[in-house]
Amino acid sequence: MLVDSHTHLDTSRFNGDREEVIERARRGGVTRMVDPGCDLASSRAALALAKAHPGTVFAGVGVHPHDATTYTEGVGGQLREMAREPEVVAIGEFGLDYFRMLSPREVQRAVFCAHLEMARECNLPCIIHVRDSHDDVIELLRAHGRDLRGVFHCFSGNVAQAEECLALEGFMLSFAGPLTKQGNALPEVARMVPPDRVLVETDSPYLVPKPRKDRRNEPLFVIHTAEKLAEIRGTTFEEIAHITTANAVRLFGLGEKKE
Ligand SMILES: [Zn+2]
Ligand SMILES: [Zn+2]
Repeated sequence: MLVDSHTHLDTSRFNGDREEVIERARRGGVTRMVDPGCDLASSRAALALAKAHPGTVFAGVGVHPHDATTYTEGVGGQLREMAREPEVVAIGEFGLDYFRMLSPREVQRAVFCAHLEMARECNLPCIIHVRDSHDDVIELLRAHGRDLRGVFHCFSGNVAQAEECLALEGFMLSFAGPLTKQGNALPEVARMVPPDRVLVETDSPYLVPKPRKDRRNEPLFVIHTAEKLAEIRGTTFEEIAHITTANAVRLFGLGEKKE
């Protein structure tokens, strides 16, 4: 059994066969998936999907850094409202993306802090997106998020950066398809992350893992990232499935009823 801790099942690329994709994942042993919203509309869509698939799909609510300019206090209020629903297990995804820089840096930073506040108020973990923005993310979390918990999703940094992330006690690292590719520092990071701080994800429909040749990623393919993680850590697939599932259940409270 595996948990895909990050999939955008609500996006239009799954419109033609969303139910089959979910069923395929379940039959293949990927029994639970977390769908984080990227703006108000997709947060709503993720919640609706979670309500339609209780115990299988769970939602996050938040505004992606690409869309940070769409965040207002009104949007924040509506996200908080949704976060009360038992199917919402995280605030996110949110973060800082200085690679594409689709929203100005200062706006991204302010919206990042607004999400930290929301996570604290709602007592939910954070799903954090980091791209070419490690130093700022760490600075803001050290200043405003030491009491929070969450995940650095699709971790893409080096060992030194991973150590800074892991120094924040409530946070985990999540590996996606890039772990299965050559030419990055991820194998080194995957070896050093403590067993109780690691998750796997697809970030589907993006980031198809090797050896798949598909043009679209889907939750079932998280298996390939888990297999790679097992190979790198010199352990079994079953052990990786066991630890990453236990970590996801603990972080997101999957299967526990909220009061
Ligand atoms: Zn992301
Ligand atoms: Zn994502």
